[in-house]
Amino acid sequence: MTQGTSEFKTVGIVGGGTAGYLTALALRKKLPHLQVTLIESPTIPIIGVGEGTTPIMVKFLHAYLERDVQELYRKVQPTWKFGVKFEWGQPGDYYFNYAFHPGPILDSVYYGGNFNEYSLGSMLISEERAPILTGEGGQLTSLIDRIPFAYHLDNNRFVAYLREEAARDGVERLELSVNTFVPAEDGESLDHIITDDGEERRFDLYVDCTGFHSKMIGEALGSPFQSYEDSLFCDRAIVANVPHGGHIKPFTTAETMDAGWCWNTPSIEDDHRGYVFSSRFLSDDAAAAEMRSKNPGMGDHRVIRFKTGRREHFWKGNVVAIGNSYGFVEPLESTGLHMIILEINQLVLNFPRSKKDTAIRGIVNRTLNAHWDDVRWFLAVHYRFNEKLQTPFWKACQNTVDIRGAQERVELFRERAPLTYRQSQFFKTEEVFGDFAYDVLLLGQRVPGRYLEASQSRVEWQKRVDGLRQLTGNALTQERAFEALNGAPPEILGSLVASPNTWVVWP
Ligand SMILES: Cc1cc2nc3c(=O)[nH]c(=O)nc-3n(C[C@H](O)[C@H](O)[C@H](O)COP(=O)(O)OP(=O)(O)OC[C@H]3O[C@@H](n4cnc5c(N)ncnc54)[C@H](O)[C@@H]3O)c2cc1C
Repeated sequence: MTQGTSEFKTVGIVGGGTAGYLTALALRKKLPHLQVTLIESPTIPIIGVGEGTTPIMVKFLHAYLERDVQELYRKVQPTWKFGVKFEWGQPGDYYFNYAFHPGPILDSVYYGGNFNEYSLGSMLISEERAPILTGEGGQLTSLIDRIPFAYHLDNNRFVAYLREEAARDGVERLELSVNTFVPAEDGESLDHIITDDGEERRFDLYVDCTGFHSKMIGEALGSPFQSYEDSLFCDRAIVANVPHGGHIKPFTTAETMDAGWCWNTPSIEDDHRGYVFSSRFLSDDAAAAEMRSKNPGMGDHRVIRFKTGRREHFWKGNVVAIGNSYGFVEPLESTGLHMIILEINQLVLNFPRSKKDTAIRGIVNRTLNAHWDDVRWFLAVHYRFNEKLQTPFWKACQNTVDIRGAQERVELFRERAPLTYRQSQFFKTEEVFGDFAYDVLLLGQRVPGRYLEASQSRVEWQKRVDGLRQLTGNALTQERAFEALNGAPPEILGSLVASPNTWVVWP
């Protein structure tokens, strides 16, 4: 059966957050025979957070969806994120970088150097610089096609941009609330939905992008919720903006707090901060006070409540759930948008042609559920080994956070570290939560292990570090880099996709 004769012609997406719009754009791009309708409620707001990403977002926007680089920078004004600076692990001013640019992670530790000098990306984080270099004559050299990064995306601007792109790509948009989701008689699929204009609407496939409401997969089809609360104790976030005085840090910060941690995702205008905490250990007011005391000039705040975990099904009957409706964990590694992209990719790759295509659902459910569980275990490792503070919350984490699914990998690390220096690559399952990520987290938090040899001689290592220091010495701050790019030939920014060596390729 070809696409032209597919029994699936119409897709109804309910939800107009990032999950809904990214799904709509991907379906129109990759399966243009589909008629895609997106229904979003004018009265139920989107979550309005979700701004730190991983490099997969850059690849997805420019290589998969083929969105124009210049236009995106003009309309969305993203900032660059070369990784996460963790104020984490050890007491005092200690920090470690999880850069998206990997490198020989053990060598600096082995030779008694600075752990964070493992790659140019990591050194850019430490020095708060971007990979736009100036030479003696003031000429610019860009390394943006070589050093992987992610975007910080202002949520309002990003969703507005996606909405415009969807209209341009032929997505039908209905501004209506769905009042009723009517299951089929067997309860295993959806028969139809009724919008608040009284219309009954039917689609061949429904995509649940209703966020935490999980109206279709959760409420209508009853897919059970599997909680991650034994590993991840936090259930609230206080979010607010804080002035940054014009300096745009090229990374996300994760700062240890009394009963959780605080993110900083810098935007062009100000820093967007959020204190993720556990309501078992701290009240909303006390959390707001702690955050305010550490962030002079903090604006009005709001409190967001959440539950961490996932549904048992990504795909049940004729309903697929993408985004918060399917799974959610706190944004410690910016996994929300990352997982949305993996979910969309699975939907597109395995899009059904015939109503008899049912076996695929189980396999895709298993694959994505395993990805979500991997994220759970990876985040749990952050909590279990963070010894920066000894508050009641952190003591509970150090003693009781469930890291079952990561235990074997941690033991392997203890026996012979780092994992990336082994040739076996047992766990190289996922780009950002794979062996390198574990090495950063475990070495960064100084979890003891028996170390392998360095991957290069002391002389080679020193030469490499000196070279990287010289490059960062010539690198501009992010705000200066953006200013310089504004007046520079468009090819410099364009090299992100046009360069033959670029890292921005799909998959
Ligand atoms: C505190 C916090 C911080 C986060 N930070 C990050 C981060 O830094 N990085 C990251 O990747 N992710 C982050 N996330 C996750 C991220 O926000 C989400 O994954 C992402 O925004 C997707 O949300 P969504 O589209 O699934 O849901 P929402 O944005 O909640 O959208 C739901 C949509 O469904 C519609 N809707 C609901 N019910 C109905 C109905 N009955 N009829 C019609 N329409 C309906 C609403 O109108 C809305 O349009 C964070 C989440 C939280 C809670």
